[in-house]
Amino acid sequence: MSRIIYLDNAATTQVSEAVLNEMLPFFRQTYSNPSAIYGFAEESKKAINKARTQAAELIGAKPEEIYFTGGGSESDNWALKAVVEAYSSKGKHIITSKIEHHAILHTCAYLEKLGCEITYLDVDENGKISLDDLKNAIRPDTILISVMTANNEIGTIEPITEIGKIAHENGVLFHTDAVQAYGHIPIHVDDMNIDMLSASGHKFHGPKGVGILYIRKGVKIRSFIHGGAQERNRRAGTSNVPAIVGLGKAVQLAGESMTERIEQEEKLRNHLIERVLTEIPYTRLNGHPTERLPNNANFCFRFIEGESLLILLDQLGVCASSGSACTSGSLDPSHVLLAIGLPHEIAHGSLRLTLSEETTLAEIDFVVDELKKIVKRLRSMSPLYEDFIKNQK
Ligand SMILES: *Cc1c(COP(=O)(O)O)cnc(C)c1O
Repeated sequence: MSRIIYLDNAATTQVSEAVLNEMLPFFRQTYSNPSAIYGFAEESKKAINKARTQAAELIGAKPEEIYFTGGGSESDNWALKAVVEAYSSKGKHIITSKIEHHAILHTCAYLEKLGCEITYLDVDENGKISLDDLKNAIRPDTILISVMTANNEIGTIEPITEIGKIAHENGVLFHTDAVQAYGHIPIHVDDMNIDMLSASGHKFHGPKGVGILYIRKGVKIRSFIHGGAQERNRRAGTSNVPAIVGLGKAVQLAGESMTERIEQEEKLRNHLIERVLTEIPYTRLNGHPTERLPNNANFCFRFIEGESLLILLDQLGVCASSGSACTSGSLDPSHVLLAIGLPHEIAHGSLRLTLSEETTLAEIDFVVDELKKIVKRLRSMSPLYEDFIKNQK
């Protein structure tokens, strides 16, 4: 494949070489089932324990509070469904936000069919929930608040610490989908009052199909997959040892490089935003201007379709996204962009560019230079733009 410029790191990331090297021995040399009792199983068992400790340490948790899952979607499903099951004697009311990932929103829709009541909090124009709205939404039968740490489309970071505080003052559990944040920005489950947290390996240079669910000690939790005794009887199935080992290594690397990486990504990202906003007219930045993920930029270009932008960028080898990977392919505008109040026609012209520590200044400059030409070309073919210009005269 010819050279690509990969700016879709919110959809998935490349497994880093160090992570791959850490995983490889667990396919052929150390392929034992960690649940077995002979000595050969010991190395797999140890490797899983090490990964569990690594995953816990990054967020100030204890290893026994980390459960390995099949990814972020599974962790989200588990958290919500298990709380409903374990706390149904208290109530069946859950509070979440309108801008959650579909792993949360579709699980909530499913739970509604089972008789749960869900409050979907609005967000402001920057994508933040209101703490007053949250307080007002809490009822005696509220069992769970689930609000994402950072949004996967527009990058906005939610006031997690305050949400957790409000949850605990009201005796409600707090879960956060931290899939975009874990390994990217500092998280501490005690300082941030988090009871449950979802993360996913492939969003921070680990492998796909492996994730974690953090469950604070004392939270009543139900098994998600019934069968063997893996994950302390909560999630049956032979442990995916290579993937778990890879996740552990990715956690270690993400933790070690976090401070520097944030600085580097923010610098490049700010350069990208500044150039796009100053050099391309009728463009807006979506998401919070400062409280956003260090690697996220999301724009709306008026009078054009995000889809056409993506196709033309793809022809240049640039991987980008409009909205989220899960909704692309559908013609509906993103639920997140609608929730921040954008009208349909503007939400259609969105572009998400998400960086990694491998992204270079030259790549960013190339993309902006090309984007300028592409936007100009698409607008020159747009009847909407033509009308707009005519009306201005
Ligand atoms: C990617 C993502 C998920 C889903 O994670 P998978 O590991 O792909 O299942 C859930 N929530 C958010 C915010 C995400 O970005």
